[in-house]
Amino acid sequence: MDSRNILSSISDVSDDTEFHTPMPAGYKPGQCKYVVVFGTVMSGLGKGIFSSSLAKVLQDKGFSVTPIKLEGYLNRDAGTLNPFRHGEVFVLDDGMECDMDLGTYERMLNQDLSRLNFVTSGQVFSRVLEKERRGGYLGRDVQMIPHVTGEVKNCLRELAVASAADVVFVEIGGTVGDVENAYLIEAVRELAFEEGPNSVCFVALTYVVKPPMLGEQKSKPAQLNLKQLMGAGIQPHIIACRARHPVTKKVREKIAMYSSVPLDRVFSMHDVDSVYVITELLRDAGIDTAVLDHLKLSDRVNADREHERRDIWNNYIKRFREAAKPVTIGITGKYTSLRDSYASIIQALEHAGVHLGAKVRIEWIDSTELDETNVSDRVAGVDGVIVPGGFGTRGVEGKLACVKYLRENRIPYLGLCYGFQIAVVEFARNVCGLEDAQSTEINSNCAHPVIDILPEQRGITQLGGNMRLGGHDVRLTPHSTVAAMYGDASKIRLRFRHRYEVSPDYMEQIEAAGLIFSGKSPDGRIAQVLELPNDVHPYFVATQAHAELSSRPLRPDPMFVGLVRAALGQSTPESNPTSDKTAQSAKA
Ligand code: GLN
Repeated sequence: MDSRNILSSISDVSDDTEFHTPMPAGYKPGQCKYVVVFGTVMSGLGKGIFSSSLAKVLQDKGFSVTPIKLEGYLNRDAGTLNPFRHGEVFVLDDGMECDMDLGTYERMLNQDLSRLNFVTSGQVFSRVLEKERRGGYLGRDVQMIPHVTGEVKNCLRELAVASAADVVFVEIGGTVGDVENAYLIEAVRELAFEEGPNSVCFVALTYVVKPPMLGEQKSKPAQLNLKQLMGAGIQPHIIACRARHPVTKKVREKIAMYSSVPLDRVFSMHDVDSVYVITELLRDAGIDTAVLDHLKLSDRVNADREHERRDIWNNYIKRFREAAKPVTIGITGKYTSLRDSYASIIQALEHAGVHLGAKVRIEWIDSTELDETNVSDRVAGVDGVIVPGGFGTRGVEGKLACVKYLRENRIPYLGLCYGFQIAVVEFARNVCGLEDAQSTEINSNCAHPVIDILPEQRGITQLGGNMRLGGHDVRLTPHSTVAAMYGDASKIRLRFRHRYEVSPDYMEQIEAAGLIFSGKSPDGRIAQVLELPNDVHPYFVATQAHAELSSRPLRPDPMFVGLVRAALGQSTPESNPTSDKTAQSAKA
C-alpha cells in the first residue's frame, strides 16, 4: 500500500484497525513537512542551536517555520526544575514554563512561541489518561503504541495546523537510547510512515571524539549510537557530526558506511567562535540544500528574500565581532557557577552590547558570599550590576548589601524580578527608615512586609505552574526614564514569573521618599517597573518582569541597553535609544 493512503485508512479509535492516530481538525496531510533532529552519543551537543539555526536558514529562504521541543521527562512543564541542574526556566508569552532551548528558538527565529511548541511526556500521558477517563478508548486497552505515540503525533499535527507552518522542526530532547525517549522516537517513525516519502527529514546530530592519548578522531561511539537509532526504525537522511575540529573525510566515510547515509549527506559541524555563525556554516556545508532536496521544497526558495535576510544577519555578526568598547557587568546571583541558569540575561546583555558597539564582559558575583564589609571590593571592577530573578532566603542579605552600595555609590543597576523586590526592600529599609522591611517570602512575620504575596496566590498550596506567569501589559508613566527608553511608549509587554509583589499598603510611602514606580499593571495594582530620578542616580532601574526573556538580537531590550549605556558612562537619553526602532517592547 502506498504510505500516502495510510492516513485515509486511519481512524481515531476503532476496533477494526490497528492504526490509531487522533487527527486534529483541519489537518491536511502533505501540507506541512517535518524536520526531526535527534541527538546521539551524548547530550549537550547544541541540538537546540543547530535546529534553530537550520530553521532560521529555511525561514530566510521564505518558508514559514515553527519549532517543537519534545521532552522525555514526566514533569508537565519546566517550572519546577532547578536551574542549576537544567538551565534557566524560559517563560513564553502565554505563560508556559519551558526549557531554555525555547529561548534559543525565539531569539533565532524572532518569533513568539506558545505552549504548543513545548511538549513533555507528562503532558502526553496526562492527555491520554484524561481521554481514557472520558471513555475515549472504550473497548481497547490503552497502549504505548498506538495510543501514546498517537497522542505525540497529534501534538505535532496540532502545531502544524495552528501555525500553518511550511516546516515544523521537531527537536527530541536527550539522547537516542534514553528510556523515556524511546516512544517519542517511535512516534516520529510512525509519523514518517503515515505522512509518506519526502515529508519528514530525519537529521541525526552525533559526536566525533578525539581522545588525547590517540590524537586522532574516532567514529565508533557515533557509529554505535547511530546503529541504535536505526534499530528503532529510523534511517537518518542527514548526519551532522559535532566535533572540536573539522571532521576528516575518513571519519565521515566510516560514519556514512555504517549508517547507509551518502557521504555528501554526512557533514562536519565543528565548533565555531559564535553561535551566530552557525547559519553560515550550515549554508556553506549545504545542509539546508540537502534538507530541502529531501523534502522536495527546493523549487520554493525565495532567493531575493534570502539575500536580504542574510545581509541583515551578517551585519549583526559583523557588529558583534567589531563591538570593542570594553564594559563589565556584574551579575549577583546564587547560581553563578552555571552560566545556563542565566542564559537569557547573558544573551540580552550581548544584544545590548552589540547595539552600542560594546563588548560586555560578565563578572559573576556570588551573593551567598557577599556582605556590607566586602561588597565594595567585589564590585570594584564592574561598571554596572544586575541582580537577577531568584527564590528563597539564601543569598538575599548579600543582594541587599549589594543594591545598597550601588544606590549610594551611583553605580548603574538593573534589577530583574527578585532584583526588583530586593531594590524595594533596600529602599524601604535604608531610605524610608523601615528597618525591619522584608519580603514575606523571607520572613512572614516581619514588621514591614513591603513585598507580599499576590492576593490570588494566597490559597495556593501546590508548586507547579501556578505563579503569575507569562506576558502582561505594563503601563508606563509618561516622561519617566523607562517610558523614554521604550520610545515614549505608554504601554509595553513583558514576561513575568512571580508570586510576590510590592505591597500596595507601602507604595505611597515609598514613592513619597523618592522611588518612582514608573510601570504598573493596567489596573494600577501591581508595581512592575521602578526607577530613581536621573539627577539622583545615573541608572537605577528594576522590573518585576523578566525583561531578558523578550530581548532579541535585532531588538535589544531597552532596559538592558540603558544599563550598558550607563555602564559605558553615557547618559540615558530622553527619548528612544534607537532611531531605527529596533529596541521595542516584546509585542510592540
Ligand atoms: N521569588 C520572587 C517571587 O516569587 C521572585 C521570583 C523571580 O525572581 N522569578 O515573587
